[in-house]
Amino acid sequence: MKLLTARFLLSPDGEVLEGGGVLVVGGRIAAVPRTSGAARRAARVHGATVEDLGQGILTPGLVNAHAHLELSGFHRRVPATRTIRPWIESLIAMRRAVGDHTLGAGVRRGADRLLRTGTTAVGDIDSTGAAGRVLAGHRLRVRLYREVLDGGDPVRAEAACAAVRRALPRRAGLCEGLSPHSPYSVSPALFALIGKVARRRCLPVTIHWSETPAELEWMRAGQGELAGLVRNSPHRTGLDLIEEAGLLGPRTALVHGNHPERGEALRIQRADATLVHCPGSHLFFGRDPFPIRHYRERGVRIALGTDSSASNDDLDMRREMALLRRSAPGLDPREVFAMATDHGARALGLEGEVGRLERGARADLCHFRLSSEDTKACLDELTTAIPEVGGVWIAGRRVAQHA
Ligand SMILES: [Zn+2]
Repeated sequence: MKLLTARFLLSPDGEVLEGGGVLVVGGRIAAVPRTSGAARRAARVHGATVEDLGQGILTPGLVNAHAHLELSGFHRRVPATRTIRPWIESLIAMRRAVGDHTLGAGVRRGADRLLRTGTTAVGDIDSTGAAGRVLAGHRLRVRLYREVLDGGDPVRAEAACAAVRRALPRRAGLCEGLSPHSPYSVSPALFALIGKVARRRCLPVTIHWSETPAELEWMRAGQGELAGLVRNSPHRTGLDLIEEAGLLGPRTALVHGNHPERGEALRIQRADATLVHCPGSHLFFGRDPFPIRHYRERGVRIALGTDSSASNDDLDMRREMALLRRSAPGLDPREVFAMATDHGARALGLEGEVGRLERGARADLCHFRLSSEDTKACLDELTTAIPEVGGVWIAGRRVAQHA
């Protein structure tokens, strides 16, 4: 049993407190005393060892809602292209050319980087099996989404779904999920099959959605640069397909959403799904400004992710927050930090487990070293300055420090 304290603490409702601490029992948070006096009393009553982390803030570990750790060895190997197709084709060719060992080494390197920079939970897409193999033995908390796609060809749908069903049996320590890759690369038949599997097994899903104008053009009219790369435009919107398969709900994370059409943001909000924005990847491709105001005005919950090293310069959620603050300076830092913690937990179906310093949650924690001297300035510094990580704990065990 131990009590961690720091100069500042993020309360369960997102307020910065001076003093206080986190009492850890059996890998979970047993109490969050809100003042130094209450913390001292809690330590005395429970006979807890006290570790004072000093200057800085103790927070929940960051939650990266979207990554492809198997691509961590592909940093700067595939240059951004003006249109999306050449980039996808280069990436697929490169991924085919490397062996399991290389992919696995990338997964390990990416997972280590996340831990060192304060991320304790990730939603990772596994398209090759490499991530599942490596992450089963890694300390990072993972929602492992099995990727499914058939290139829009319904003839391949049953086989694609069967392969995923075979891969689904639980591996120790990994939370499973499903990722139909995107509406343009998954036929309506495969969406329907995935919908059944996800409902039967209560699996969270994540789907790349509305990333580029080319995707919208293909979905609606079967034209544009995706013609030939995938087959059989459904002549429907992606959100329609997702919703009809029963895949738009509270355990759905839609990734990107750069081009919402009329009424779509409200449908996402009413379904209580989460939209995942990846600021670093957005910057890499030089995309038009992300319509964050459009989503926020309609009450859509937004989480943050890094996407892969193939389309981002780092796997560091501190940097994602800083990039978002720079591109949307009017945002409240408290909301930005929630996007990188609590909202990410919701996206991964891990609410109540991670993302908040609250009683009963896993003791997945991070200590950031800050120069701020008052409670008001802490979250501003935390979300703009990429502060040094003093320590990272998963289930109450220290796993990393100093990044
Ligand atoms: Zn992605």
